[in-house]
Amino acid sequence: MERTLVIAKPDAVQRNLVGEIIKRLERSGLKLVAMKMVRAEAKLIEKHYTIDPKWFENVGNKAIESYKKKGLTPPNSDPVALGKEVLERLKKYMTACPVIAMVFEGNSAVALVRKICGGTEPLSAAAGTIRGDFTPESYQLADGGERAIRNLIHASGSSEEAEKEIVLWFEKKELMEYKLIRDSIIYDVDWKF
Ligand code: GDP
Ligand code: MG
Repeated sequence: MERTLVIAKPDAVQRNLVGEIIKRLERSGLKLVAMKMVRAEAKLIEKHYTIDPKWFENVGNKAIESYKKKGLTPPNSDPVALGKEVLERLKKYMTACPVIAMVFEGNSAVALVRKICGGTEPLSAAAGTIRGDFTPESYQLADGGERAIRNLIHASGSSEEAEKEIVLWFEKKELMEYKLIRDSIIYDVDWKF
């Protein structure tokens, strides 16, 4: 069993897509074990995105690659500098209004939620994913407006990242331990009715 942190970002809250997001994650078979509305402070957002020291470089490289794939010139050719700029924009974006933080648990929770979420850039994210279905947002649109990509949802990128993120957003007592009868249908070896 694995846990993953999900955040319905400010644009999801403002566009009344929180229910849709929860619906899609809930029906996946993952178990919701924590949820709350938070007005995040810039410090929390900074801590959240700097858990992985390689994040700056990764974010920058991903953006540069996406620009190149479209035959466009990236706004900055230094991935770390680009990543640092993105963090500043994220602090503004993620503190703009309350967000909904959630923890889901289950088999391969991290990968499963990322699959349902879709890729970072909504415009190129697959149809049928949360990011792919609900916004035409692109790297160009975001960078042109010097703002973060508004992609509705955050989902942890790895199990280690998830555990560190969960501790940042939730107290231990907020993480529920309970049994779902449904889980015996999903996980038990033998059952009959
Ligand atoms: P995720 O794991 O798919 O959310 O993506 P990352 O961890 O790489 O980036 C975190 C968040 O920063 C994304 O969800 C976007 O909101 C934003 N972001 C990432 N890359 C860029 C970028 O190149 N430009 C802008 N403007 N925002 C970005
Ligand atoms: Mg990430």
